[in-house]
Amino acid sequence: MPHVVLDTGFGRGERFATARGAERALHYIALLAELPPAQTIAAADLRAAWPTAVPGLHRIVLDDGRTTLDLLVGDVDAGIGELTARVDEFYVPAPLASPRALGKLATPDAQLTACDGNDAWRRALRAAGFSWPENAATPGWLHARYTSRKPQPPRRPPPVRTAIVIGAGVAGSAACERLCARGWDVTLIERHAEPATEASGNRAGIFMPLLSRDDNIPTRLTRAAYLYAMRHWQKLGGLAADGVPMLGAQCGVLQLARDGEHAALQREVVEQWRYPAEFVRWVDAAEASALLGAATPNGAWLFGQGGWANPASICRAMLAACGAGLRRIFHAEALRLERRDDAWHVVGADGVVIASAAHVIVANGAGALTLAPTAPLPLYTMRGQVTHVAQEQFAGPGLVVCREAYMTPAVNGIVSVGATYDKDDDRALRRASQAENLARAREILGEDRIPADVPLQGRVGLRCMAPDRLPLVGPLPDYAAPGQPERLRDVARHPGLHALLGYASRGLIWAPLAAELLACQLEDAPLPLEASLATALDPARFLLKERKRNPAGSVAIAPKP
Ligand SMILES: Cc1cc2nc3c(=O)[nH]c(=O)nc-3n(C[C@H](O)[C@H](O)[C@H](O)COP(=O)(O)OP(=O)(O)OC[C@H]3O[C@@H](n4cnc5c(N)ncnc54)[C@H](O)[C@@H]3O)c2cc1C
Repeated sequence: MPHVVLDTGFGRGERFATARGAERALHYIALLAELPPAQTIAAADLRAAWPTAVPGLHRIVLDDGRTTLDLLVGDVDAGIGELTARVDEFYVPAPLASPRALGKLATPDAQLTACDGNDAWRRALRAAGFSWPENAATPGWLHARYTSRKPQPPRRPPPVRTAIVIGAGVAGSAACERLCARGWDVTLIERHAEPATEASGNRAGIFMPLLSRDDNIPTRLTRAAYLYAMRHWQKLGGLAADGVPMLGAQCGVLQLARDGEHAALQREVVEQWRYPAEFVRWVDAAEASALLGAATPNGAWLFGQGGWANPASICRAMLAACGAGLRRIFHAEALRLERRDDAWHVVGADGVVIASAAHVIVANGAGALTLAPTAPLPLYTMRGQVTHVAQEQFAGPGLVVCREAYMTPAVNGIVSVGATYDKDDDRALRRASQAENLARAREILGEDRIPADVPLQGRVGLRCMAPDRLPLVGPLPDYAAPGQPERLRDVARHPGLHALLGYASRGLIWAPLAAELLACQLEDAPLPLEASLATALDPARFLLKERKRNPAGSVAIAPKP
């Protein structure tokens, strides 16, 4: 396990640089109100990976994976309560509002170096479980240890590092990559001949975050996922126009305001949250029109780092990065999961066991609706049709444009315009869906830019959605277990069975962060997300809500037919 350090006064990263020099696996968590500018960071590799200055947890991986740096930007006291980690060493150079939270994170015998502060501060540290000799070795500083006898939650034994991942879309491919990077033996089961043939099979998906006036949970989650995904793709070699290793471009995304009122809100949000221009800029109607290449009346958000990517190429790159730890079983459909002898056995056609492992990760998109342990989840599908327009007919915008519809720049001669949201699951292309896409594009660009005679071309996929449109990441609840849970941690779970599901319309950005979150949960390692955000993704959230609302329903919920 890496040595875990928590630092509440990162400064310019001098202490981090010293800890990193100790040549042991290190997980360094720094809490800071604001990020110092990148140019003040001494180490060139860290400077190059320095995150965009927005609130939230930014994970940076250095030294070929030996060093992880988590920068949690925001209120420091609140941030400590948002960490899920077991800390071996603390640096606290200024008093905190409540050091109690430090004690909750400490491993037995954890070291603390803290300012000696006033009597109240020292009493609070003692109450939190830390103690130190009366004669301070360094004036102004306390060198303490966590000596509380209060039982800490026991550390879980290291996991058996074998897993089966069901589904080779972006969700499953990212899970394979994150687990293999940690030395797991992973078997990937996919019913088709190659990865990314269902929802992840679109030519070009767009990536961008959400923004809101109140910086709500979906906004914070999409921001974290968007920034993590771009950093992760960079680590894997980056997006490139020639598709090597991944096809895509950070060409910018222009999200046009729907009307004057929406434009005012867009502008207000950017001003209120003081986002750096590289993250988002509000552009007025004149600048938006210039970027769009057509007159648009209301201005827009410009996400300069956003863009489009080809999900299949991302899946292939993630699977290629797995190396020898990955076994691929394609053309095999998981029909049943059986638990015997502390292991899961995935059973296919004719009752044949396809593979066995300690853990199963269900990442099979719409397929989850029919697999027994995931069928009781309130997931549903939403059909989507993207229209493909040949570049000769419509050259496409120079960057991604979205409003009620989105348009990508031409990718290998094809502009993607989409996508519909339909309640059925018809996989055939429909003229009505195409007309809907093109009508929306014409509303954005003007009638004459897209000709009337576009042949019926495109792609249909089924999005796997949860009622709150957020993904399901983590251990799967056991719907058949009776009980009246009050909190998520009381919900009975299937041992060793986990979900990466419900990526809805944002699979590109959810996949890398969700896979990292699940891998950290499995390894009992510090989570890459604030606790309130990780909780919002817990697959048991629906069962908990249902049982609280309907105590009589504390018996098994029947799977969907
Ligand atoms: C029209 C449309 C447009 C979209 N546009 C965007 C966009 O612009 N940006 C964006 O980020 N997202 C977009 N999305 C959403 C995105 O495509 C999805 O969120 C993402 O692809 C989901 O990935 P996944 O791995 O969960 O599912 P999938 O890609 O569907 O992968 C699941 C895999 O599991 C396999 N499988 C299922 N059941 C079994 C089984 N029992 N045994 C073995 N294998 C099984 C399937 O064959 C499949 O390969 C769009 C979706 C659609 C439909």
